[in-house]
Amino acid sequence: MRKNIVAGNWKMNNDLSETHELIAHLKMQMVKEPTAEVYVAPSFISLYSAFQSLKDTPVKVAAQNMHFAEKGAFTGEVSAKMLKSIGVNTVILGHSERRAQFDESDEILSKKVSAAIANEMEIIFCFGEELKERKANKHFDVVKSQLENAIFHLPKDAWKNVILAYEPVWAIGTGETASPEQAQEVHAYVRKIVAENYDQATADEVSILYGGSVKPDNAREIFANEDVDGGLIGGASLNAIDFLAIVNSFE
Ligand code: 13P
Repeated sequence: MRKNIVAGNWKMNNDLSETHELIAHLKMQMVKEPTAEVYVAPSFISLYSAFQSLKDTPVKVAAQNMHFAEKGAFTGEVSAKMLKSIGVNTVILGHSERRAQFDESDEILSKKVSAAIANEMEIIFCFGEELKERKANKHFDVVKSQLENAIFHLPKDAWKNVILAYEPVWAIGTGETASPEQAQEVHAYVRKIVAENYDQATADEVSILYGGSVKPDNAREIFANEDVDGGLIGGASLNAIDFLAIVNSFE
């Protein structure tokens, strides 16, 4: 049985004290054991203390990025080993903001994916088409090439540490969500190509999250789809009540 997962990507929001305020709210509001696995991804600055503060709760802490090299002259970068040294075992890779604004190519992402797996980390791998690609009906091709070029090189046994996140760029932070049908269609396609590249069991086990303007009032109908196993949440994850409402949106 694959897992339901809801992850909050806090992006470049919240300084240290704001991070702890949000964590305190999450802890206070989380009255019952969540029915999904819950992750939050604070900024690097807050990762260590967020991890310390959440380690006795069901909430896991993820990093938003990492470098592929083990160590060395990479000013401003953070390695897998550094993340692991503070207890953080999960990393978001391939977010469209990193692809678009920080020139992260498939080639770079492929190295990051390999480095994370070599360090026995779990990956939340993001992919998704831009508006012009959707309009040109190229979304299936774009998604396929993003997966083929950056993550399908992994051996089958690495997939137990992979979570996929379909985030159509046109739906991120825009208030415009993919319709439940649009999300389901791409998720089913992704599961099909994972099965073709590996096998059906691998495809059946991998959790595929949807990201892009998920809110408490649309989460339920998106998560109700067969191949949608949860969400990667931006804006709405910055509010504990909204985020936990989304976490509790599974049937
Ligand atoms: P929003 O939920 O703010 O649209 O952001 C989605 C996202 O980019 C999560 O990684």
